[in-house]
Amino acid sequence: MLVHRLNALKDNYVFVLEDEAARTAAVVDPAEAGPVLEALVRLGLRLVAIFNTHHHHDHVGGNRELLEAYPGIAVYASRRDRGRIPGQTVELEDGDTVAFGCERARVIFVPGHTHGHIAYHFAGCGHLFCGDTLFAGGCGRLFEGTARQMQHSLSRLRELPEETQVWCAHEYTLGNLRFARTIEPDNAELAERLRTVEVLRAQKMATVPSTMAAERATNPFLRWESRQLQRAAGAIEPEEVFAYLRGLKDRL
Ligand SMILES: [Zn+2]
Repeated sequence: MLVHRLNALKDNYVFVLEDEAARTAAVVDPAEAGPVLEALVRLGLRLVAIFNTHHHHDHVGGNRELLEAYPGIAVYASRRDRGRIPGQTVELEDGDTVAFGCERARVIFVPGHTHGHIAYHFAGCGHLFCGDTLFAGGCGRLFEGTARQMQHSLSRLRELPEETQVWCAHEYTLGNLRFARTIEPDNAELAERLRTVEVLRAQKMATVPSTMAAERATNPFLRWESRQLQRAAGAIEPEEVFAYLRGLKDRL
């Protein structure tokens, strides 16, 4: 399975998954249809499925137009998002498996950013599509869920293998790492990653995907065991450390 990263809207990423043998494609979170339709023509692929992580418009905005071009294709999303995903055909639960070509993804229920948010983990090829839950160097805001829910969701993603490719839905990495640096200045890996990302972004290059190893080492929202973060938060309970960091970033 190949993953093609497309730019959409202001800073969204949309992912086209390619089954090389069958010449078919699935799309993850089509913010808008235009770039997806263009990529399908360019790559010579037929769309067979839409995978949505959650209901926000910049993740489902292209569903309708893609369904007009490819009627009858499967639209996967959370059971808890029933009624707010255009064209949804399959309602997913935690632990469900979805197939694309010969690859399989496990559905991981990750509430916090929204009530219904799910992630798709393709264990065989090591890809994680995590929408607005885990970002490179950061995490999504708590629009519908609680800090406790989000910290638990992130703890589940953090358990995935280190080499997992983390495909998040926005290019927020530079701002995230600059924030991280202010609260964990002694983290050498973080300082190094920030330097690398500054160079990439100066050239307008993408920083997605990252790896779970890099996120564990440098993303403060996965680092509730860090002494420096615990001291800053004045707490040691993971959910309290997380809540402190999320609140701090929200007030920037
Ligand atoms: Zn969102």
